[in-house]
Amino acid sequence: MRCPFCGNLETQVKDSRPSEDGAAIRRRRSCSECGGRFTTFERVQLRDLMIVKRSGRRTPFDRAKLERSVAIALRKRPIDQDRIDRMVSGIVRQLESMGETDIPSEAVGGLVMEALRSLDVVAYVRYASVYRDFRETSDFAKFLGDEGLNQNSGVAPKATPVPKSEAKDPPRIERGLGEQDLSPSDDA
Ligand SMILES: [Zn+2]
Repeated sequence: MRCPFCGNLETQVKDSRPSEDGAAIRRRRSCSECGGRFTTFERVQLRDLMIVKRSGRRTPFDRAKLERSVAIALRKRPIDQDRIDRMVSGIVRQLESMGETDIPSEAVGGLVMEALRSLDVVAYVRYASVYRDFRETSDFAKFLGDEGLNQNSGVAPKATPVPKSEAKDPPRIERGLGEQDLSPSDDA
């Protein structure tokens, strides 16, 4: 594996361990030339996927590109990198199991939206704003309203009423969406 710092081909594996629930092997490497340290991941690649853009252009699926767009949406959000890696691996597995080599870019966007919605609602809205090309603040307002994410009412929206027969069970918490902090900034 070529050193990303100096380009030297002589790099050594210092440590190797399973990651992402065994879906990947994480290797710590160091360069014998410049001493640079970096990490590589080894993952099963079931098949070679091609992404088809709206324009009809086909490009090979690039996990790193997917990771970058997810990282931008999750920037400064309090989510462990390992959870993010597992989420991305889950998306890739779903893409690979679609049974097609050509995947429309919309399908990737849809899976990312779905995964982010359950991981972090702020990242979800950020991603949606780019993916759906919001142009005005009213686009955000409409999206939040459609998704039941408006908190103006002070009541958690889209709450599922608990049927009487289950009333003795502990109260259900609807997964996140009504509960999470939607304040614009939580970085001090
Ligand atoms: Zn080096």
